[in-house]
Amino acid sequence: MTDVPNGLAGALREAQLDVTEDAPLAPLTTFRIGGHARVLVTAHSPEEIVRAVRLAVEAGARWAVIGGGSNLLVADEGFPGVVVLVRAARVSLHDTELEAEAGAELGRIVTGSAWAGLGDLTFCAGIPGTVGGAVAGNAGAWGRAIGELVVAVRLLRAASMETVEVAPGAMDFGYRRSAVQASHDVVLAVRLGLQPTERKTMLKQIDENLARRGKRLPELPSAGSIFRNLPPAQPGGQREPAGRLLEAVGAKGYRVGDAGVTDRHANVIVNYGHARARDVVQLMAELERRVAEKYGVRLSRELRELG
Ligand SMILES: Cc1cc2nc3c(=O)[nH]c(=O)nc-3n(C[C@H](O)[C@H](O)[C@H](O)COP(=O)(O)OP(=O)(O)OC[C@H]3O[C@@H](n4cnc5c(N)ncnc54)[C@H](O)[C@@H]3O)c2cc1C
Repeated sequence: MTDVPNGLAGALREAQLDVTEDAPLAPLTTFRIGGHARVLVTAHSPEEIVRAVRLAVEAGARWAVIGGGSNLLVADEGFPGVVVLVRAARVSLHDTELEAEAGAELGRIVTGSAWAGLGDLTFCAGIPGTVGGAVAGNAGAWGRAIGELVVAVRLLRAASMETVEVAPGAMDFGYRRSAVQASHDVVLAVRLGLQPTERKTMLKQIDENLARRGKRLPELPSAGSIFRNLPPAQPGGQREPAGRLLEAVGAKGYRVGDAGVTDRHANVIVNYGHARARDVVQLMAELERRVAEKYGVRLSRELRELG
């Protein structure tokens, strides 16, 4: 595995792909942190994702995919390989099934399906990013997760470079996790099974969920929750919010450089202006240390790192 061999950017262009060399990644993330991608390919269709990744693999280059960049910490040094920015965003309805390419914005699907009288994705209202990123991390809120609605996922297998359609069982969805996080398979498209549901009720629910979030979330750049909530003490019980433990160890207001835990939520780090990835990493390590020391609990990072 090398970085980007000479000629790869040219080969990607010859394959009719949208290529930028030495592309800043920070503006592609909600955290606004991190360095450059040696090569960035903006993929406008699932076929372009496959073409870009296959060419990178054939050339022995490192590669990664990103969606909305809303759960991502990019290293200060950037990423020395090919980053594929997933912007394939076609969405279609087939009876009560919604099919979306991975780069479709989750928010658009939430409101679009509600307007179509199909539910119920309202629990996802306010979660930024793409549907591919949401399925890869089994995003969710209020005790529910998108994996519950998945009927099928079209994947590019990282090990074989083949495309396959898999049933939800093969995704091994768990709390904020799925099989692709370990396999590095790429989500190309998703089918969600919805039910006829009253439009008015769903639109109201979306407004309520957005309002509930508005009170808790910071206005500064962030990547949402940094740590996963803790497993329930008893089987079938509720997860213990990581924020409660973090608050008890004095996380709120704790700062390293321009990265700091917001006063609004002990599990959210914000970028006060010029935060670096290394500041965030140092901050996370200190929070992990404090929680381990006080509670003997090892926090697990929800935030994904690139580079
Ligand atoms: C203000 C705010 C609020 C948030 N609230 C919530 C919340 O309530 N619940 C919640 O679950 N999350 C929340 N998040 C986190 C984030 O929005 C979700 O994790 C989201 O689903 C990430 O999607 P993305 O497209 O932005 O992924 P990215 O950030 O672009 O990528 C995240 C990871 O997924 C991988 N990935 C992205 N696309 C694909 C693909 N097509 N195939 C395979 N892997 C892929 C990337 O390689 C990376 O490892 C919040 C974030 C913010 C900033």
